[in-house]
Amino acid sequence: MRLVLLGAPGSGKGTQAQRLEARRGVPQVSTGDLLREAVAAGTELGRAAKAVMDAGQLVDDATMLGIIRERLARPDAKRGFILDGFPRTLVQAEGLARLLDDIGQPLDAVVLFEIDPLVLERRLAGRRTCRRCGRVFHLESNPPRAGEFCTDGKPHELYQRPDDTEETVRRRLAVYCERTQPLVDHYAEQGLLRRIDADGSLDDVGARLDAALREGV
Ligand code: AMP
Repeated sequence: MRLVLLGAPGSGKGTQAQRLEARRGVPQVSTGDLLREAVAAGTELGRAAKAVMDAGQLVDDATMLGIIRERLARPDAKRGFILDGFPRTLVQAEGLARLLDDIGQPLDAVVLFEIDPLVLERRLAGRRTCRRCGRVFHLESNPPRAGEFCTDGKPHELYQRPDDTEETVRRRLAVYCERTQPLVDHYAEQGLLRRIDADGSLDDVGARLDAALREGV
């Protein structure tokens, strides 16, 4: 299974990618997570990417294509992959197509997570991540349950991603409309696009994703 999950920030593609990875044993490849790891490790890439990410802008295409080339060369990606947050520009989509062509592993499908922008702003404003285990919660719709603990037995230590603040969220949604939305037509023309309604419970959206994938992956 070789998939791209396409959708605005906050559309839930990361959460569904994690759940799909657990169900199918195919790795989620999130370029946002790879960049955040580089920031946390203080590498040269991380230092360069941090300012760009905090401003809600996109890291340059050549850097992103290098990251994805390296990641897809790792052994676990031989079984397939679920791309989450990549590609985000037409140049990245074209670079990805060339890379997959080189390794003889073309995409099976691109799933578009469709959702109202107002719902997105609410989702992103309430999103919190556990600093230790990386689990993603929402203050209103998916808070940590009372008595539920993190992997080390302590309560989850929640923080807000620096790029989830109101102003940066607006910038990220504008960047999505301008740079990433053109990919919808691009993949539709190639006959790869499947659309799902991304508003609903985690289970409902997961079921819609499974149904879209049954159409032929
Ligand atoms: P995400 O976790 O997917 O929302 O990504 C967080 C941030 O990482 C984005 O706002 C960008 O600054 C950067 N980023 C992640 N993926 C890409 C990509 N494919 N191209 C450019 N920048 C990216």
